Amino acid sequence: MRIIFIGPPGAGKGTQAVKIVAKYKPVHLSTGDMLRAARDAKTEIGLQADEYMSSGQLVPDEVVIGVIAERLKSDDCKSGYLLDGFPRTIAQAEALDKMLAASGTPLDIVLELKVPDDELFTRLVERGRKEGRTDDTPETIQKRIAVYNNQTSPLLDYYGKKGLLKTIEGLGTIDEIFARIEKVLDAPKSGCGCGCR
Ligand code: AMP
Repeated sequence: MRIIFIGPPGAGKGTQAVKIVAKYKPVHLSTGDMLRAARDAKTEIGLQADEYMSSGQLVPDEVVIGVIAERLKSDDCKSGYLLDGFPRTIAQAEALDKMLAASGTPLDIVLELKVPDDELFTRLVERGRKEGRTDDTPETIQKRIAVYNNQTSPLLDYYGKKGLLKTIEGLGTIDEIFARIEKVLDAPKSGCGCGCR
């Protein structure tokens, strides 16, 4: 299965991604994790990305598109993947569409994990305290939520029009939320093959 997982920072995508991977076995492709690894390894891409990441801005499209294009060529992606944190802009979604059209491997589904902004803020402040992530300070959190609303949320319409979007209510316990995801992922595919389901 080729799945895109969209949601604002703090929605719980990481937690649910682990459960999706355990049950459905897609390769987990998190651009945030890839960029943090590149930053820690002090590669050129990592150093380039660092200033954007620590201020809560998006890393430039061409950098992230390059990273994901390279990763999608790997053999382990052939049997399916969960894209977590990519695409985050319409330009990234269009670039992904071109890559997938060229390889003849269309997306199966786009999951949106939906959580209200005030709840996100509370969760992220708490995560910042516990994990010490440099981009979980109150100012950066506000910025990242605004970036999501301005630059990433237009993707919901983009994938909605393609008939690929399924919205999951992101409030509740981890298991309740995962049960909603399972219901959507286990639903039999229907439609005429044009992407409608
Ligand atoms: P995440 O772990 O997904 O919240 O990503 C952490 C940070 O990495 C983001 O705030 C961005 O600075 C950067 N990042 C991750 N994925 C992308 C992407 N698809 N496009 C641009 N920047 C990204």
